[in-house]
Amino acid sequence: MQQPSHIQGIALETLAKDFGTPLYVYDGEKIVQQIQSLQTAFSAVPLRIKYATKALSSLSVLRLIRKAGAELDAVSIGEIKLGLLAGCPASEIMYTPSGVGFDEIQEAVQIGVMINVDSLPLLEMIGQTYGSSLKICIRLNPHILAGGNLKISVGHKESKFGISIEQLPEILELVQRYQISVAGLHVHTGSDIYDAEVFLKGGNILFEAAMLFPDLRFLDFGGGFKVAYSPEDSATDITQLGKVVSTAFQTFCEKYGRQLELWIEPGKYLVSEAGYFIVKATVVKESPTLHFVGVDSGLNHLIRPMMYDAYHDIYNLSNQEGATASYTVVGYICETDTLASQRQLHVVKEGDLLVLKNAGAYGFTMSSNYNARLRPAEVLIWEGKAHLIRKREQFEDLLHNQISIDL
Ligand SMILES: *Cc1c(COP(=O)(O)O)cnc(C)c1O
Repeated sequence: MQQPSHIQGIALETLAKDFGTPLYVYDGEKIVQQIQSLQTAFSAVPLRIKYATKALSSLSVLRLIRKAGAELDAVSIGEIKLGLLAGCPASEIMYTPSGVGFDEIQEAVQIGVMINVDSLPLLEMIGQTYGSSLKICIRLNPHILAGGNLKISVGHKESKFGISIEQLPEILELVQRYQISVAGLHVHTGSDIYDAEVFLKGGNILFEAAMLFPDLRFLDFGGGFKVAYSPEDSATDITQLGKVVSTAFQTFCEKYGRQLELWIEPGKYLVSEAGYFIVKATVVKESPTLHFVGVDSGLNHLIRPMMYDAYHDIYNLSNQEGATASYTVVGYICETDTLASQRQLHVVKEGDLLVLKNAGAYGFTMSSNYNARLRPAEVLIWEGKAHLIRKREQFEDLLHNQISIDL
């Protein structure tokens, strides 16, 4: 398979030379295409795309995503503030925190974002503090088999918080008692959901619960659309998903008696494939059993392989022809730090550039300074030009907040 050597006509090799390695490169056009594919697939319903900011939260990327017509889902005050700085109005930001203190909720209310309530104690605090004056969304956890004909959702490991669907009676009681204004219901069933039918299971739970809330403005189906990680892997068929979910949604709206908005929160789907992480081979060494390639990066820059065995396709940008061999690509961190295990790569020499694909989502945002290493630069390719959107860190950045006391 021919692997990309250029993005929008710009050679990745040139970028590595101009900006150094390791380097995150994002294809802005790909991000816009992904947004457009969702807008097209869901064109039969009033859709709002709330991009899951945590996937990639660099300001210029947020700006681009907003320009393409998406809004934001934030999971921290920091993400809300980045969104505001990127020009997204508070009214278009949904705040979906997990078990945060009430001071954070108050700050978010002050800013003017919609709160997605993920626990009964929080719902009660909101009722006591704001009564009916605040419009909120409630995050339901659909994992648990509920009474009636509510369906069980397939258990996805990333779907963690929210209020159990079994506690609907308690939710309703609090809503009644404090006259809480519920504008939306939300489920996020997890990540890497491939099948439209699986997605609809979460939807059916929403539809059924929604009948108990007369003042809704929207239903939020969460994120988790799957992208392809390797040539053999497959992605969610968005056209099919859009059709199936939109049809079910419109049927629901008729029953509900009013047209609601359909919200989705894609993270990975918008930015994963747009990202390329360029690293340089610093050493090629053979053990009795394996060929190792050491690179000028590691789990401090891309933790997904070590954190959840994520697969990132990898190729030798400097040598795309001829013989191949099996290599295990490892980082420089003093821990087991494997980026790719036993992959066929065109013969690697010291100094060659390797590219990890699908590096846009949960790459840079999960990076750290572990081992006192510096975070890489980021480049956004937009309208055929390479824009540096984040400088490479310098040693001084490690000292920034430190106070060295005299002992
Ligand atoms: C992480 C997250 C998403 C996005 O998940 P992806 O798998 O990146 O699409 C959406 N909604 C919520 C609430 C999340 O926490």
